[in-house]
Amino acid sequence: MTAGTRRWALAGLLAAAALAAVGLGLWQVSRARCFALTGPVVCRVETSAPLVALTFDDGPTPTGVEAVLPVLEAKGARATFFLIGEDVAKHPELAARLLAAGQEVGDHSYTHRRMVGRPSAFYDREIGDTEALLRKAGAASGLFRPPYGKKLFGLPLAARRHGLKIVMWDVEDPATSDPKAFAGQVVAQARPGSIILVHAMYASNATARAALPMILDGLDAKGLRAVSVGELLAQAR
Ligand SMILES: [Zn+2]
Repeated sequence: MTAGTRRWALAGLLAAAALAAVGLGLWQVSRARCFALTGPVVCRVETSAPLVALTFDDGPTPTGVEAVLPVLEAKGARATFFLIGEDVAKHPELAARLLAAGQEVGDHSYTHRRMVGRPSAFYDREIGDTEALLRKAGAASGLFRPPYGKKLFGLPLAARRHGLKIVMWDVEDPATSDPKAFAGQVVAQARPGSIILVHAMYASNATARAALPMILDGLDAKGLRAVSVGELLAQAR
C-alpha cells in the first residue's frame, strides 16, 4: 500500500465511523424519553402536587378493559388510555366504555407501526384516521403516545400539525413476572409529576393486570394519587 492509498483507506474508515456515530446518535435521539429534535415532548410534569399520571398503551381489548376499569373505579383512580385506531375500529364499544367511566383516551396511531423515517403523508394518515375515530367516540384529549416511544423528525412535526401533544413517560413497566415485584418497582420510581407507562391489554400482560391494585395501593401509601395526563398537565408549574 502506498502512502496515498493508506491515507484514502484511513479517510474512508473515518467517514464510516462518523456515519455510524451519526446513526447511533439519531437512534438514541429517536428513543429519548424527554427530548425530540423537531417539537416538544412531555415525559413528566414539574409539580409539587402529590399526583402521578397512570397511562395504559395499546388496545382497547376486552381482556384489558374488563380487568383494568373495575380496579380504577374501585380505587377512585383516573388514567389515560392511549388507544390504537385499528383496535378502536374493532371495538368502538370499549373506547365508549372508557370514556363513559370518566377515563381519558389518547391517540396511539392507527396501525402501531414505527413512526420514524416515513413520508409525512404516513404520519398524517396514522394520526388523522385515529383522531377521527376518537372524536366520533367523544374523546378530545389532544394527546399522542408514539408506538414504541419512537419519534425523530417527521412525527413531532405531524403532531403539531394535528394539534397534539406528544406524551412519553418517566416510569415504565418493569421486566418481571412477579406482580408484587412489578408493583414495588413502579411505586419506588414514582414521584410527584411522574407519568407511568403500563401495558395491560394483551394476554402477555397478565403480570401488569395482577399488579395494578398493588400499584394503586402503593401509590396511595406514598401519598400519591393517580390521575389522567390531562389532569397532571393542568398542574404544571
Ligand atoms: Zn404501543
